[in-house]
Amino acid sequence: MAVAPPAIEARELYRFYHIGDEETLALRGVSLVVNPGEMVAVVGPSGSGKSTLMACLAGLDEPDGGFVYVNGERLTRCDEAARTLIRSRMIGLLLQSGNLFDHLTVRQNVALKMRFAGQSDTARIDEVLDLVGIGARGQAYPSQLSGGEASRAGLAVVLAPRPPIIIADEPTGEVDSETEQGILAIFDRHRADGGASLIVTHSEAIASRADRTVRLDDGRVADG
Ligand code: ADP
Repeated sequence: MAVAPPAIEARELYRFYHIGDEETLALRGVSLVVNPGEMVAVVGPSGSGKSTLMACLAGLDEPDGGFVYVNGERLTRCDEAARTLIRSRMIGLLLQSGNLFDHLTVRQNVALKMRFAGQSDTARIDEVLDLVGIGARGQAYPSQLSGGEASRAGLAVVLAPRPPIIIADEPTGEVDSETEQGILAIFDRHRADGGASLIVTHSEAIASRADRTVRLDDGRVADG
């Protein structure tokens, strides 16, 4: 029987930034694997390379060295259009902000995401709004949502096309502990359904719920 490839496989990622004569080594040989059905937390102090790593794993940025494979498909050394296609098919990317278009209602945001992913199952829109607990807020615009509702609406957009992989940046950064538990339950369900997730977080609650924690320190994976 064929063995499923890792959901995310990063090999020896390097990323350098240059400003004038200054060189910043944001990633210095980072390798990691996230398997289907696994939740991995990425932690580390500010400036340790978490955002850079996330951008490379999601195909938003191209590393200067190393490779990223997503479900066995190479994401690096592809042009931007190819990376965008792989991302739209495989990755739900939850950013700290900017997950919703302000001029569309919550429901329209979810519907648009479904369309981008080539899916036309309108029943899924209501299902996913109910799943994140904002079924009654579908007609609201983002500016009319509380912080917790906006976080959950962003999550609804990401979850709608049932991506096999979720990459999330501080998904509970702006919410109270009750909402955090609700969001964690959704990540748990994604994992139980065989989904992979990589979550950049400062939250102890998330790190303790994850299967593994990858700690970054100065652009490298710290031991232990
Ligand atoms: P974290 O997300 O852990 O705070 P980052 O990945 O944002 O870390 O940053 C890692 C290092 O790379 C930092 O020293 C940061 O200043 C530098 N860096 C990040 N993005 C850029 C950029 N676009 N230009 C120059 N330096 C950058």
